[in-house]
Amino acid sequence: MRVKYLTTAPRQTQKLGEILAKEALKTKLKKGALILGLEGDLGGGKTTFLQGFAKGLGTKEKILSPTFIILKRFKIKGLTPHQKLRFGAGQGFKNFYHIDCYRIEKPKEILDLGFKEVISNPKNIVTIEWAERIQKILPAGTIILKFELINQKTRKITVGFKK
Ligand code: ADP
Ligand code: MG
Repeated sequence: MRVKYLTTAPRQTQKLGEILAKEALKTKLKKGALILGLEGDLGGGKTTFLQGFAKGLGTKEKILSPTFIILKRFKIKGLTPHQKLRFGAGQGFKNFYHIDCYRIEKPKEILDLGFKEVISNPKNIVTIEWAERIQKILPAGTIILKFELINQKTRKITVGFKK
């Protein structure tokens, strides 16, 4: 299954991230982490999307293009009273990871940062920019978002799953 979105301003791409984050928070915890792989062109809007995504998760810190940082962890604040009613107290995601593979050359560099542990914790939401660079170590079922530059202000974002 694939869904396509066209956005015509950075704000729209952020909004899409925010909406999808709120959907993510509603999903039941699974065996491993909820993983989003972001692929595609430089300037495609991956970091912009994650700024909105972080906002949707209730993260107050700013999401930057982590030029020198490969992995950053943010705390997801507790469930709102409404979410507790819906999902039961004690459930829910705890950590949000922002990983950027732009500077890595081999998947091993990510594995050395404890990647396997990070993706095996069901309470983690893990987002990965330049996910195509670590394709080999991404589990089947990873949500893949592909970002394409259409023109200066237009981006095409295709959502699917890794087989
Ligand atoms: P990436 O992380 O994929 O390299 P960024 O999110 O860092 O991309 O950069 C996207 C750039 O494109 C930003 O400078 C942003 O202002 C610009 N831009 C223009 N139109 C859009 C749009 N529709 N969606 C997202 N970014 C856009
Ligand atoms: Mg980026």
